[in-house]
Amino acid sequence: MPELFIGGQWTTAVDGQVREIRCPADNTLVATVDEAGPKDAAAAIAAAREAFDHGPWPDTPAAERGRLLLRVADLLERDKDALARAESLDTGKRLVESEYDMDDIANCFRYFGNLTAAGGSDRIVDAGSPEVDSRVVHEPVGVCSLITPWNYPLLQTAWKVAPALGAGNTFVLKPSELTPHTAIILMRLLAEAGLPDGAANLILGAGPTAGAPLSEDRRVDLVSFTGGLVTGRRIMAAAAPTVKKVALELGGKNPNIVFADADFEAAVDYALMAIFLHSGQVCSAGARLLVQDDLHDAFVDAVVERARRIPLGGPFDEHARTGPLISAAHRDKVEAYVAAGLAEGAVLRCGGTRPDDPALRDGYYYLPTVLDECTPSMSVVADESFGPVLTVERFRDEEEALTLANGTVYGLAGAVWSQDIGKAQRVANRLRAGTVWINDFHPYVPQAEWGGMKQSGFGRELGPAGLAEYQEAKHVWRNLAPTPQRWFE
Ligand code: NAD
Repeated sequence: MPELFIGGQWTTAVDGQVREIRCPADNTLVATVDEAGPKDAAAAIAAAREAFDHGPWPDTPAAERGRLLLRVADLLERDKDALARAESLDTGKRLVESEYDMDDIANCFRYFGNLTAAGGSDRIVDAGSPEVDSRVVHEPVGVCSLITPWNYPLLQTAWKVAPALGAGNTFVLKPSELTPHTAIILMRLLAEAGLPDGAANLILGAGPTAGAPLSEDRRVDLVSFTGGLVTGRRIMAAAAPTVKKVALELGGKNPNIVFADADFEAAVDYALMAIFLHSGQVCSAGARLLVQDDLHDAFVDAVVERARRIPLGGPFDEHARTGPLISAAHRDKVEAYVAAGLAEGAVLRCGGTRPDDPALRDGYYYLPTVLDECTPSMSVVADESFGPVLTVERFRDEEEALTLANGTVYGLAGAVWSQDIGKAQRVANRLRAGTVWINDFHPYVPQAEWGGMKQSGFGRELGPAGLAEYQEAKHVWRNLAPTPQRWFE
C-alpha cells in the first residue's frame, strides 16, 4: 500500500524510490516504504496550501476542531497495541516504553483538544473610546512544516500535530526516515476522525531531499523542527530568505547535580534512569553527572555497580531493561566520543564496548558506560553523544556546581538532588534550562511548556505556549462612528 499521504490520497513517490526500514535490535526487515523527493514535497506543500487557503479546516469553529482532537485521542487508545508494536519495531525500544509513549500521546491530543475547545485566548482591548471596538484575535499561522526525529517518533509528532490542528493550521509532516510507521498510522486515524482532505499531509524520506524543501518553500508559513543542533542551524538558515516562523527543539547535554546531602538510594536510582533509559537516546537524558566531592566515590561506585547489571535486549525481551542504538552509524558516533574521552583522560569505570552476548550480535547494542574524572573541555562532556554514556565531574560547592552545569552550549533540562530544599531551589533558579527537576528526573505533563534555552533551541511545545506557537495574534480595531478628521485641512 502506498505510504505518502497527499491531499487526502495515499500515493507512491513520483520517482518510484523506496527505502528499507530495519529493526535496530536485530537488523531484520520491518517493511519497504515509499521515499519522497523534492517533487513529492512540493505536491504535499501545494495540497496543504490549497487546504489552508480554500479548505474548511481553518474556518471550522474551535469547539469542533477540539472535538476532532478528542476523537483522535480515542482512536489512538483503541489502536494502542498496534501503534506501540510499530514504534518498537522501528526504534528497537522496549515494548513497555512504547506503550507508555502511546498513553502520553493520547493525553497530548486530549489536552490540546480541550484547550482548543475552551477557546478564550481572544480578548477585548480598552481603546480609550466608547466608539471603538478593539480586540485581539488569534488566527492559525497557515501551512506548517513539521519535521521530527527517530527517538520518540510519534510523541514528538503529537506535540506538533495536535496544537497545529487545534489552532486551525494545515501541515506537511516529515518524520525521520528511520522510523516512519506510526506517522503513517496517525494519518489514517486523522482521516477516520473526519479531518478534511489536505489538512494533514505526510511525506517520508531523507532530510536533504524530502525535508529541505519544507523549510525553503515560500508557500510554507512556519517550520517546527525537533532534532539535532546541526540540522536545526541548517533549517533556520534555509527558512531565513522567506522569513518563516521557526521553532527549534534541539539537543541537550543535561546536568544531573547531586549534593552530598541527597537521598543516596533515590539519587543513585534516578541517576541510572536519567541516562540509561532508551540507551541514552533521550533529548533530556541526564548525561552529565555532577557529584559533590564528599559523596563522589561512594556514589559513583554504586552507580557503576548497578550499571554493569542492566540487561540489554530487543523490544519484546521481557528481561531487557534497555535496548539498542538506532543504527550502526549512530553507534560508531557514540564509540568515537568514548574513545576521545578516554584519550583526553577520562577514566572508564564500566562499559565502553559492545556486549559480547551472541544473541545481540545483529543489533546495534552498546554497554551502559560510565566515564569518571571528566572535565568540561572533553568533547564527550561538551557535545551530545546521544548514547548510554554517563560522564562524571566533581564539584566543591553550589557555585562550582552551577558553573559546570551551565557550562555547555545547551540548555534543555537539568536536575538537582539535595534534602536542603532551599539550596535545591536556589540552584534550580539559576540553571539555564527549559525544564528543571528537583529530586526527580524526566517527568513532564502536557499542561507544562517544554523547550530549550541557548542552543537547545527556541519556541515551546506543550502547555498554552505550545498552542500559541501555531497562532498569529491580530489586532482588529473597529471605529463604530467614523467622522471626518480633517487632518489635512
Ligand atoms: P536529525 O537532526 O538528524 O534529524 C531530525 C529530522 O530532520 C529527521 O526527520 C531528518 O530527516 C530531518 N532533516 C535532516 N536534515 C534536514 C534538512 N536539511 N532539512 C530538513 N529536514 C532535515 O536528528 P535525529 O538524529 O533524528 O534526532 C536526534 C536529535 O533530536 C538529538 O539531537 C535530540 O536531542 C533531538 N531531540 C530533541 C528533542 C527536544 O524536545 N528538544 C526531542 C527529541 C529529540
